[in-house]
Amino acid sequence: MTPGPTLVLASPCCGHLHRLQTFKSGNTAGAILWSDGKLDARLLPELPKIARCGGCSSLFWVGDAAEVGRIDDPFYRSIRGEKKQDVAPEWKRAPLIGTPDTDVLAEAITDPCFAARDRRRHVRIELWHSLNEPRRKLPGNPQWEQFWKPYWEHCGAEFQQQYGALFAPNLEALLELFEEADADDRLQKAEALRELGRFATCIRLLDSDFDEPLGFYARQIRQRALARDETVFRLDWPPLEYADPPQPEKTARRIH
Ligand SMILES: [Zn+2]
Repeated sequence: MTPGPTLVLASPCCGHLHRLQTFKSGNTAGAILWSDGKLDARLLPELPKIARCGGCSSLFWVGDAAEVGRIDDPFYRSIRGEKKQDVAPEWKRAPLIGTPDTDVLAEAITDPCFAARDRRRHVRIELWHSLNEPRRKLPGNPQWEQFWKPYWEHCGAEFQQQYGALFAPNLEALLELFEEADADDRLQKAEALRELGRFATCIRLLDSDFDEPLGFYARQIRQRALARDETVFRLDWPPLEYADPPQPEKTARRIH
């Protein structure tokens, strides 16, 4: 993962300065893909699109914030032989925009700032992923066993009490926002239906045609729906033949 510059942004509500860390490149090595579409990729972090303003506490769409400057990564500046950047103290003090938490997302679903269809869809998908956190079980993973398992055993009931009522209405609203003509959307809609316990409708959608690798994911979701299992689960990655067409040198390497 290669860090890019840190953007200094003025919030659209009151002009308060914030920092946003960008990345030049990343990859999905060691990443986990979940059935709800969430990709846990330490080396490919997703840039947050929703933030709470550090000045006035309003929520804002990060893309609406005006860029007022950039802070270069000091390491890459030094290897390029450039002198140390003179960064204004107010830029250094500006809060860093992080991943929105469940509270922010729960508030964002009714905030007029996110009324546009694409924003509403993004907010609701993020909320879906966030509400699924206590259900992401990874038995056998040391990090899960040592940290997340005891964490959710301790906090899971409280989380469920606080946010549990949002889960089904959020998925119902998302069903309206997924376009069945689009294969990606159709797969996500089928998964939302499975997580709502509407297995027959889920299977009907999954019986339509999917190109690979979506078909590979659809078959795994179908298996769970047939077993009447509505919990989010870890998807297996598709086999290599479903990935991008092999490069000639890669094919040669495989033959020898
Ligand atoms: Zn503000």
